[in-house]
Amino acid sequence: MNILVINCGSSSLKFSVIDTQTGKDLARGLFDKLGSQAPSFKLESPLLSAPKKGNLPGGSEHEASLDTLANFLASDEMHLEIEAVGHRVVHGGERFTSACLMDQEALDAVKSCSSLAPLHNPANLLGIESSRQHFPELPQVGVFDTAFHQTIEPEAYLYAIPYELYREHGIRRYGFHGSSHKYVTSEAARILGKPLDQTSIITAHLGNGCSAAAIENGACVDTTMGLTPLEGLVMGTRSGDLDPGIVFHLHRALGLSIEEIDTILNKKSGLLGLSEFSNDMRSLRQASANGNEAAKRAVSIFTRRLAKSIASLRAALDKCDALVFTGGIGENDVQTRTETLVRLQHLGMLVDEQANATAGVDQDGIISQANSPVKVIVIPTNEELMIARETEQLVGSK
Ligand code: ADP
Repeated sequence: MNILVINCGSSSLKFSVIDTQTGKDLARGLFDKLGSQAPSFKLESPLLSAPKKGNLPGGSEHEASLDTLANFLASDEMHLEIEAVGHRVVHGGERFTSACLMDQEALDAVKSCSSLAPLHNPANLLGIESSRQHFPELPQVGVFDTAFHQTIEPEAYLYAIPYELYREHGIRRYGFHGSSHKYVTSEAARILGKPLDQTSIITAHLGNGCSAAAIENGACVDTTMGLTPLEGLVMGTRSGDLDPGIVFHLHRALGLSIEEIDTILNKKSGLLGLSEFSNDMRSLRQASANGNEAAKRAVSIFTRRLAKSIASLRAALDKCDALVFTGGIGENDVQTRTETLVRLQHLGMLVDEQANATAGVDQDGIISQANSPVKVIVIPTNEELMIARETEQLVGSK
């Protein structure tokens, strides 16, 4: 089945067309800087000899991007038959435990979750609404970042704050990156040669955003991200865990507004805040190799915190078959894996340095020693393919 997968951000629209039978991309592209003076796009396909690049009229938004996208897919050179559209939706609250057809009732339910993800859900909704107009004959499916984590029990999702805040306002851990954690979990079971419902693993998705999850017998039992994607690991520009008292202190003692604190913790912290020059692991590794102390500080805090989180997630599992690294850093940064695993030997995660040095780069690889009680595996994530598969499953079952 050919599925169009759409991922709308506030100023961007990413898409892929995936043939679910082969798992291959038939087309992919990005509309960027939407709403600005010069929105741009790049469209790629194995059917084209070269990528198509261009600009949309100044001020163009998601609506105009979908116009261009629909024309591109129907053009003579592409002529792709699309059978359904799968949309990434960041926050599904407690209402969405799996993918769902986006009828009016479901759209209203996503809207009601928007206060939990004010930066993401409104953009996701825009994408779904525009897509319904452009492809009215196609089923539109929402696939939620939070859904995979809905198997987490109250003892792991409740914060130790007045219970009423959960009961009345839904304040709890939700978790994110669900499509990635779910995808690598099923890949890990395949690589281990075990049935999914007998596979218990820890997954570490390390990209610009970073989260880890504990998966017991195929179902998520705990994760590092919380009510929002700010909690947990150190990330590119997000702080991850910190003393909530810091927020009050920044407000009371330094006079910063809630908006300013929000910007500091989401956009100016993490690797960028610690290094004072980059949120990008590649640049930080290069600078560290050249003796830059700020870069060394940032990456060592990143890996120390990652190891601590993995160790604490281990306590959420009865047994652990494997630890999986994925995302841009998890798949590519040999040093991050080494420095993390050095701290996890006591949990039976024993790295094979040679296998580690050559793993990743678009292919799976076991990087633990043959006698390691816990296998350590690098698995390139594919969130788009997971969204396409879930869309196909839902549409196919109707
Ligand atoms: P996103 O979360 O935006 O999808 P990615 O999963 O692409 O991000 O991850 C981006 C991160 O991966 C950046 O910090 C980048 O530096 C890092 N990264 C990508 N390739 C490498 C590499 N070869 N070595 C080290 N880090 C890498």
